[in-house]
Amino acid sequence: TTMKTTNSGSGDVRLTGISKTYGSFTAVHPLDLTVPQGSFFALLGASGCGKTTTLRMIAGLEEPSSGTVHLGDQDVTALPPYKRPVNTVFQSYALFPHLDIFENVAFGLRRRGIKSVKKQVEDMLELVQLGEQARKKPHQLSGGQQQRVAVARALINKPGVLLLDEPLGALDLKLRRQMQLELKRIQTEVGITFVHVTHDQEEAMTMADTVAVMNAGRVEQLGSPADLYENPNTTFVANFLGTSNLIEAEVDTKNGDDIVLKAGGGKLVLPESRCSAPTTTGGKVLVGVRPEKISLTHADDAGAIPEGRNRITGRIANSSFIGVSTQYVIDSTVCPEFEVYAQNIDRDARLAPGAEVVLHWSPAHTFGLDAAQD
Ligand code: ATP
Repeated sequence: TTMKTTNSGSGDVRLTGISKTYGSFTAVHPLDLTVPQGSFFALLGASGCGKTTTLRMIAGLEEPSSGTVHLGDQDVTALPPYKRPVNTVFQSYALFPHLDIFENVAFGLRRRGIKSVKKQVEDMLELVQLGEQARKKPHQLSGGQQQRVAVARALINKPGVLLLDEPLGALDLKLRRQMQLELKRIQTEVGITFVHVTHDQEEAMTMADTVAVMNAGRVEQLGSPADLYENPNTTFVANFLGTSNLIEAEVDTKNGDDIVLKAGGGKLVLPESRCSAPTTTGGKVLVGVRPEKISLTHADDAGAIPEGRNRITGRIANSSFIGVSTQYVIDSTVCPEFEVYAQNIDRDARLAPGAEVVLHWSPAHTFGLDAAQD
């Protein structure tokens, strides 16, 4: 389409030392964050973590207690919302009920006194795949269609940045998933910076190039979805994004680029680059591995497991077949109460509750967390 913004840099969002306090309560601790122009950025976190407050400070709907907001080269900290080159889409789409879809989308242009709106509105309706619905009223559309009207209405004035505050929160799961892909497509097509607030990790991972995981008013970790998943730096991130198995271990020695740790009676190996905990001998580390990275072998066949893999022994407590995979819960000897979920295992009739097994995985799929951080 013709929508690509060419104004280089105008879509950068730069927050410097931005914070928000309500009385003695700090909703957002001083935060430095740069969102590059044209990226799809997600602020992800549980309810109350400060993500909406951060978004509202970018929009100008909330006055920061400290710090500055730059959009491109412009310091907008003192500007009211309507003077900022941003637009916001909220969970409640707030379409004008008495106007048809065409006029809802045209609204921003008409307000600016632009007379010939037809081509732009039609292009925009095309972009959100609502060309056929132009003369309907909002109540005649589905929730997902109404949400797309809200996006079209917000994009028509070509803001440098589009802010989205839980825009899919009111939709059912199936529609949500459709709209996630749809919003991603629209963002790629228009090339405008999107900053998206959500508490749904799957949603953030599906859509965003970069995700900032927020916890208690701070960004815990920032990275690509794959980064955050493969290499979480904190137990919060490890547990908030997917499932992590965490094993208590103690640093023993170093072996080249690897750290060797003691866990129970055995040892585990971890690349030092994947360990966010101090690695001095005797230090406590939580050793993490994702469930789908683990292989499960019956104890009778343990001799066939290749050298160099991390391994722990245990007993199957439980298994459930869920189609694409089987999930196992393992009582591990490393830690009496410890359970492991292993998936994607070739079905072996002997792998039933009560069976003695060896769990094994590659050191490359292992991460280390600071056991003392919380
Ligand atoms: P949610 O997903 O529930 O909206 P959030 O992560 O977006 O959560 P914020 O809305 O940013 O969280 O709120 C962060 C914290 O600041 C919360 O603990 C909230 O109770 C508090 N807070 C927000 N607005 C105010 C206010 N006007 N006065 C006092 N406290 C507030």
